[in-house]
Amino acid sequence: RGKRMQRKDSVPNISFDKIGGQQRSKEELKEALDFLIHRNKIREYGIRPIKGILLSGPPGTGKTLMAKAAAHYTDSVFVTTSGSEFVEMYVGVGAQRIRELFQEARADAKKNHKNSAIIFIDEIDVIGGQREGAQHREYDQTLNQLLTEMDGIATDQEVQVLVVAATNRKDMLDSALLRPGRFDRHISVDLPDKKARVMILRMHTENKPMAEEVDIEQTAIETFGFSGAQLESLTNEAAIYAMRDGSVVIRQEHLSQAIDKVMMGEKTDREATQ
Ligand code: ATP
Repeated sequence: RGKRMQRKDSVPNISFDKIGGQQRSKEELKEALDFLIHRNKIREYGIRPIKGILLSGPPGTGKTLMAKAAAHYTDSVFVTTSGSEFVEMYVGVGAQRIRELFQEARADAKKNHKNSAIIFIDEIDVIGGQREGAQHREYDQTLNQLLTEMDGIATDQEVQVLVVAATNRKDMLDSALLRPGRFDRHISVDLPDKKARVMILRMHTENKPMAEEVDIEQTAIETFGFSGAQLESLTNEAAIYAMRDGSVVIRQEHLSQAIDKVMMGEKTDREATQ
């Protein structure tokens, strides 16, 4: 109990160039992270530290990857949780977990001789959604604790903490979270365009036995609207089709079958939740 949700990777080994596309988002994020890297300078100028960065965009677009790359870029330890871990917790337990999360982040940084820690909160909307009535009291306390912890972040602390949160429901967030000094940097992480899909497909086929005939450009054209996660899944499915066929290489037809499969899968998922 308790420790399960705090998976610690120390400093993740994911750099920004492992993320395909997202050029603008990466630039914006790096710009914000430079404040963390140059925190002494920031302090000299009396600039307020960046405490929270909000990544918003559709599922599977690489928000988690971006958060990990942020930790890699700033040489920070990485501590992660998700809003969904706070569902159905007793009143007070969520707040306690938030406290522990910040303690863990600081302790982990010290243990690893790092100056900074990034706390990643996926699905922040679960705990930070607009408050409606008394039925969400446990989330209220959790959210209040998060705000208190963030308000307590200062540039003169031994370990600089930065909270990166992700959501695909930015419109749902409580305005208290978005105030200056909290999540006041917003970076949108969108679905990849064709060029980005080519890059992502290349990344995920690099270590696979692709047939000469395989046309990544064409595959990118046929995968309009796919997220990075779907593209990754598509390359994996194509490999499975090839293996089932007893083919030593992955051919275009396997990719086509996999496109259908990923598209159908999405459809069944949607139908199931309707
Ligand atoms: P969710 O909102 O569903 O949590 P997410 O936006 O956090 O999703 P990730 O978990 O970062 O998405 O991505 C899932 C997987 O999809 C990654 O591990 C990676 O394999 C692949 N992926 C997603 N986006 C990209 C990208 N831009 N470049 C390369 N791979 C990607």
